[in-house]
Amino acid sequence: MSAQGPLHEMGVAQLGAGLKARAFSALELARHCLARAEHDATASFLALNPEVTLAQARASDARRAAGNAAPLEGVPVAHKDIFVTRDFPTTAGSKMLAGYRSPFDATVVARLAQAGMVTVGKLSCDEFAMGSGNENCAYGPVRNPWDAARVPGGSSGGSAASLAARLVPAATGTDTGGSIRQPASFCGVTGIKPTYGRASRYGMIAYASSLDQGGPMARSAEDCALLLSALCGPDPDRDSTSLDLPAEDFSASLNADLKGLRIGLPQEFFGDGLAPGVRAAVEAALAELQKLGAALVTISLPRTELAIPVYYIIAAAEASSNLSRYDGVKFGHRAREYFDLESMYKKSRAQGFGSEVKRRIMTGTYVLSHGYYDAYYLQAQRIRRLIAEDFRSAFAQCDVIAGPVAPTVAWKIGQNAADPLADYLADIFTLPASLAGLPAMSVPAGVGEHGMPVGLQLIGNYFAEARLLNVAHRLQQATDFHHRKPAGV
Ligand code: GLN
Repeated sequence: MSAQGPLHEMGVAQLGAGLKARAFSALELARHCLARAEHDATASFLALNPEVTLAQARASDARRAAGNAAPLEGVPVAHKDIFVTRDFPTTAGSKMLAGYRSPFDATVVARLAQAGMVTVGKLSCDEFAMGSGNENCAYGPVRNPWDAARVPGGSSGGSAASLAARLVPAATGTDTGGSIRQPASFCGVTGIKPTYGRASRYGMIAYASSLDQGGPMARSAEDCALLLSALCGPDPDRDSTSLDLPAEDFSASLNADLKGLRIGLPQEFFGDGLAPGVRAAVEAALAELQKLGAALVTISLPRTELAIPVYYIIAAAEASSNLSRYDGVKFGHRAREYFDLESMYKKSRAQGFGSEVKRRIMTGTYVLSHGYYDAYYLQAQRIRRLIAEDFRSAFAQCDVIAGPVAPTVAWKIGQNAADPLADYLADIFTLPASLAGLPAMSVPAGVGEHGMPVGLQLIGNYFAEARLLNVAHRLQQATDFHHRKPAGV
């Protein structure tokens, strides 16, 4: 306990201030997080290494004593297990990488460590980030802290659940087609996927390289801004697609006035498939933004529905290529018994990959194969361009786009087990921004069906992260949804 209440109730900014004021030490804070993580009922963590965490915390306290007062110094963070880490095993949620130890840290991990953050552990995710409910993790599902029978969302489900359960104040996530935004929405936390290329992909285990993008998750936009400022920035020697843009202070304009801001509402995001409770929560949040001076305008993103087949062709194609490296020779699981090289490949991959990953590899190989390439892959690439064009036209009419993150609240664990397409369809509102490479975020907007959290999605033009965070922060000053927590937490 501190003067301001239990440490786990505090967000990144508040913890940074408390550390600076010496109200508590990084070591106390790390011990507090570890104690909570060890009694975690959500199964968010795949790996803890208290020795490493406590050593990092001691080092942070020593830097503080030597005069370091950086805003993230000593603040705990946990990483999605898709980021490679030297001090913790990295599995990407797959049996294929069981026991894998990376010889280096991902750039995002290294940047947050350089900013002084202390790593609590590695967080569960769908296998190779393929999924929408964290049910595809080879090490078991994660439970949503709001209702243990429901999914936390995916693929960054461990990140969202650990934040909602107040196990950690900050987490990393990755978003290929919605994996930061959708779990943030399902667990009532805040997350932002920056413009494609803002955060280095170096050391982020590849799923679909033209879509994969890392970003921060926390409980507030203010906290996300602090984290995003630390983890972005060019990484030209290591990620050729990292943007040559200097790191930005995303906290600087959090309080900017929203007067005159034009918020575009894509009519396709508010159709019949939207659950009534989700619609009501999103509309209430939009009404709040109107009160803050924003104007709502109806826009159209006519190819919204096409985003699903387009994404599931392109992402699968890239995955089939990226995952060919797991052959039992250099990386990953190797079958114990085999007759020749080919049978070793086959058996190792058959044993190491889960069924969703195999489904993606088969789809991807199919759409890239001779005779089908033009009909599927090339066609999907063409429509991808048109989807980006739709956004371009939309941003002529508005500054920011808003809508739901997902058509429903979190579903029950196992509900879609026999119907993988149901998971794919639920990605409809997050996929368009991913295909266009635009920044997008999820902000807690209230509760929907079954008392489950609902997120408001904000999509910005390229490089408009600061604007998104500004809108989210103003909304969070006017509402308290990001402070609400699940019963029993
Ligand atoms: N649900 C989508 C998929 O399974 C998105 C996942 C992600 O963003 N990593 O591919």
